[in-house]
Amino acid sequence: MHPHLKPLIELQAVDLRLIGIRERLAQFPKRLAEVEARVTAAKHEVAAAKESLLTGQKERKTYEMDVDQWKERAKKYRNQTGEVKSNEAYKALLHEIQNAEDEIAKAEDRLLERMVSGEQYDREVKAAEIRVKEVEAVAAKERQAIQAEYNATQKELTGAESVRKSAMSAVPEDLVSHYERIAKRHGGIALADIRGEGCGQCGVHIRPHVIQQLQRPNNDAFFHCETCTRILYYAADPALSASTASAAGSVGDAASSTTPES
Ligand SMILES: [Zn+2]
Repeated sequence: MHPHLKPLIELQAVDLRLIGIRERLAQFPKRLAEVEARVTAAKHEVAAAKESLLTGQKERKTYEMDVDQWKERAKKYRNQTGEVKSNEAYKALLHEIQNAEDEIAKAEDRLLERMVSGEQYDREVKAAEIRVKEVEAVAAKERQAIQAEYNATQKELTGAESVRKSAMSAVPEDLVSHYERIAKRHGGIALADIRGEGCGQCGVHIRPHVIQQLQRPNNDAFFHCETCTRILYYAADPALSASTASAAGSVGDAASSTTPES
């Protein structure tokens, strides 16, 4: 096995972890915004219920005034009944009184309706205020949980970054740049293990002499997949001792989730 392959495999494993960690970190603002949006929506409901209550109260005042005005008119007409001289004028006055009575009844109906719906609006305001408190209590817990998770993820990031640093230090700089160029083009995966007789990433057939060469313990050459250009390695290489087995495993896992078996 090429002496730099082992640290490169470690680098690949930690890079895949870093991609996952950064993806999770990028989700946090959205998750927090969702919590805030729920609180805002609940507050809007209170405001809307209060608005309806206020409108109802204004209408109630208007209807009360209507009732008073018609009562006032009816009273005025009744007072005039003693002063009319002709039968016709008396009839006309009675008609006006009847009309005013009808209007009083109508205005009172509207007022009653308004009072009933006013009570409904009042209940809605109170219910919306209770809901806001509930939503805010849940939101406070969610914020705390998200913050704790964020802190833990940040810590994970710092840890993974320092692992990356030490993995990088074991690889010459130009090889790191080479690795990074390939990784950038291929979704962060610059290495490909041999699966059967093919590239573990793109599945293309690898020539047998390349596989044989990779399997040789004293191999000191790099081979690239002719199709995806990734750096090839032989995952079952005994040189990948127990200490890096997990790192190699992570690369393999990522490969199987991103590339169909050929
Ligand atoms: Zn390939």
